[in-house]
Amino acid sequence: MFNLILFGPPGCGKGTQSTNILTTYQLNHISTGDLLRDEVSRQTTLGLEAKKFMDNGLLVPDEVVIGMIGSKIDGNRDARGFIFDGFPRTTAQAEALDNLLKEKNAAINTVLSLEVPEEELVRRLVSRGITSGRSDDTEEVIAKRIKEYFAKTEPVAGYYHSFQKLVRVPGNGSIEETFAILKKEIEKHISPA
Ligand code: AMP
Repeated sequence: MFNLILFGPPGCGKGTQSTNILTTYQLNHISTGDLLRDEVSRQTTLGLEAKKFMDNGLLVPDEVVIGMIGSKIDGNRDARGFIFDGFPRTTAQAEALDNLLKEKNAAINTVLSLEVPEEELVRRLVSRGITSGRSDDTEEVIAKRIKEYFAKTEPVAGYYHSFQKLVRVPGNGSIEETFAILKKEIEKHISPA
């Protein structure tokens, strides 16, 4: 099993690059943002609770997201591997993920961190907001999401660096240029499917 984390701030291109990666390497995609938005649109109890945090640009509590990830991994036992997008976002989530994978005799193989200057992140998110219809792609909430990233999520890079799993990748080129760099890193571990 090959397990990859696509890491980086909101707007760094995780979602776009995940789509490229999962079709080329046939990995299962787990995006906690997508899972949460699905819960919100179905107005489940979890979704209604999560929405309060999401609309304010804050992280949803760890136990909520960790529970969702656990059931996703269990439901895809035959997967070639997983690409984690937007998860883990705290060190507690990273530790929980390690434990969940250990139970399956698996581990995170590599963490690819997309590095994009902050002004470019804001520019991308504001322009996405015009078409995405996402309630958290407004200038005010974007600023809070980026602040939350640097306070709680950036330290997760240090966690993976301590296990020699972190690879920093420039993410401000074109989609194709960035994908080419990611491919080179991924093919140190697996070949296209
Ligand atoms: P995203 O689509 O990854 O930008 O996530 C949108 C929002 O969902 C975030 O701003 C958080 O409120 C919430 N969210 C997504 N993933 C996580 C996570 N791993 N931990 C906590 N909150 C999350």
